[in-house]
Amino acid sequence: MTHILNADLHCHSVVSDGTLTPEELAPRAKDNGVELWALTDHDEVGGQDRAIAAAQAVGLPFLTGAEISVTFLGVTVHIVGLGFDHSDAALVAGLRQTRGGREQRAREMSDDLARVGIPGVYEGALKYVGNPELISRSHFARYLVEIGVCKETNDVFRKYITEGKPGFVAHRWAALRDAVSWITGAGGVAVIAHPGRYGFTPNEEYALFTEFKALGGQGVEVVTGAHGPADYAKYADFCREFGLVASRGSDFHSPTESHTDLGRLPDLPGNVTPVWELLTERIL
Ligand code: AMP
Ligand code: MN
Ligand code: MN
Ligand code: MN
Repeated sequence: MTHILNADLHCHSVVSDGTLTPEELAPRAKDNGVELWALTDHDEVGGQDRAIAAAQAVGLPFLTGAEISVTFLGVTVHIVGLGFDHSDAALVAGLRQTRGGREQRAREMSDDLARVGIPGVYEGALKYVGNPELISRSHFARYLVEIGVCKETNDVFRKYITEGKPGFVAHRWAALRDAVSWITGAGGVAVIAHPGRYGFTPNEEYALFTEFKALGGQGVEVVTGAHGPADYAKYADFCREFGLVASRGSDFHSPTESHTDLGRLPDLPGNVTPVWELLTERIL
């Protein structure tokens, strides 16, 4: 397969914090020209069987996926897994454990927002939650837009529910070591998601890539909705420096909230190995 395959290997459904169902995403991907698709819900594989069936119904090659929340150097880092056996017992148990703290965190976030005069946000956010085990900050953001606290969800993440702002509750997610081993143990490839978003110093970023590689991680997102051309070049260089393959994914969540639609991304740079070269046997 080639670099110019229109692969979109990162997006979300109502099974985590997206607004479309797997049955809505598959035809949208197909219509947008996607040639290889993965659904990567946060900390959850509950949408995979639906996505497989929906992809088959429109003739769209599919890889299983998930985006695992990890705490590394005190920062939340996301690790995408691709092409694993989504019924693997250790993977399923690890994801369940990672989801476990979300309910309590959401109640504490709501309590903190009540302290600044915005009551009832937990109950309000629940209206947007498609999976009771996966209440996320995105659902809070949608409710805060609904009640007019902010005009759009992006503004919520500037004024609330991020570090130092009202409604933020620090949370300890999975260890990097565990997330990588759940993915690789289930036969998949682990990929560092949107590295340009973490705000690490060069030393911290070097530590992330070095440790990830040592643990058996194999890929990094080079082209993603959150990256610009400088990031494409930087992380293509990282691929060569660390011996990693390159992934490509929109991180699409919603037609009204996401800037990058499914499949609407620049091609991978020519000087990297695409992640799908490692996954040809895993395509459904
Ligand atoms: P959580 O896993 O509950 O901490 O929620 C994280 C989710 O919030 C991410 O997966 C994004 O979908 C969303 N998010 C985080 N930061 C931003 C931002 N600056 N703008 C829009 N959405 C964001
Ligand atoms: Mn999300
Ligand atoms: Mn992410
Ligand atoms: Mn994502």
